[in-house]
Amino acid sequence: MARNTPHPATMAAQALGWIDEGTGAVVLPVHTATTFLRDADNQYRRGRGYGRADNASYDQPEALITALEGGAASLVFASGMAAAAAVFRSLPPGAHIVAPRVMYWALRRWLGAQAESGALAVDFVDMISLDALRVAVKPGKTKLVWIETPANPLWSITDIAGAAEIAHSAGALLAIDSTAASPVLTRPLSLGADIVMHSATKYLNGHSDVIAGSLTTATKDEFWQRLVAARSGDGAILGGFEAYLLLRGMRTLYPRVERACRSAQKIAERLAAHQKVAEVLYPGLPSHPGHTIAARQMQGGFGGMLSIRVKGGEAAAIAAAAKVEIWKRATSLGGVESLLEHRASIEGAGTPVPPDLLRLSVGIEDPDDLIADLETALG
Ligand code: PLP
Repeated sequence: MARNTPHPATMAAQALGWIDEGTGAVVLPVHTATTFLRDADNQYRRGRGYGRADNASYDQPEALITALEGGAASLVFASGMAAAAAVFRSLPPGAHIVAPRVMYWALRRWLGAQAESGALAVDFVDMISLDALRVAVKPGKTKLVWIETPANPLWSITDIAGAAEIAHSAGALLAIDSTAASPVLTRPLSLGADIVMHSATKYLNGHSDVIAGSLTTATKDEFWQRLVAARSGDGAILGGFEAYLLLRGMRTLYPRVERACRSAQKIAERLAAHQKVAEVLYPGLPSHPGHTIAARQMQGGFGGMLSIRVKGGEAAAIAAAAKVEIWKRATSLGGVESLLEHRASIEGAGTPVPPDLLRLSVGIEDPDDLIADLETALG
């Protein structure tokens, strides 16, 4: 590889190698200004006017996410939900969209509410099967197909290239929640997706101390302009300090995700043979129904997320969760510390999640400690 086109891990470690021109600092300052000086002739030649639309602290994290995703441009948001909502709010009123049945539950609920109010027409389909998507899209009417892969919390896999082909042939955009894969494992734009969304709260930041979201687009077109307008119009902006923390987290994205993947694979294999575990849901196991597609579209591992179904049902699952010491019983994912959660308790009525399921977010601790803790908790 030529010296001037470094590998993504190098770009991330050096945050693209930006240096503060004035001081030579290898870390850029946090910009706190909410307003910017006009030129004497009333122009804003430096390109920034007001802090809700413009923040210099976004430049470096947005440029880095764009480089890692291989996109045209990125926007950071106040949360993953704000990023996702900006996509849907940029569609024409009442637009038809197709979304997965298994997806991040709060976004599924939000989309359901949009459908009820008439703001969107939403069909939820099983995205494991491209046949179901093919049937659901309405050529000329469907404006957007939303997918999530691996999909939280069953870690089911959607064929990104196949979904892109179906969306495009119907005249729709393909947007993907790629939070669980991170750009380390999957680059959806190279497989035909138009928009990549991350809950940057998770792997991109990686330290459970920032709520943030991002969107990256394949082209800087008219829809991109709508996303820019949605962020400043709705005002769901990230603070400058949070943008700095996000960038700091992204510098270690590659070693964190690589280690989490290795540990998750080891944990999945060990638990698959455990007598108290009914099933392990992890795309890295050959028994997983999405394994072949995942192996094709994920590079370097299958992610740090897995779920287990505990023999004995809901009560046994909750009892096992009560006994962990190293794993922390908490929601969220993608941080350096391992988290475990009884997922159905969070999602409530109507969830597709079985009641005996525990969701595991594997951190960067020693995997043998994580396995020992789980084996003790399972009994
Ligand atoms: N997408 C996925 C897969 C998530 O796990 C989450 C949060 O858990 C979100 C989106 C929402 O992101 P945020 O909490 O940053 O709004």
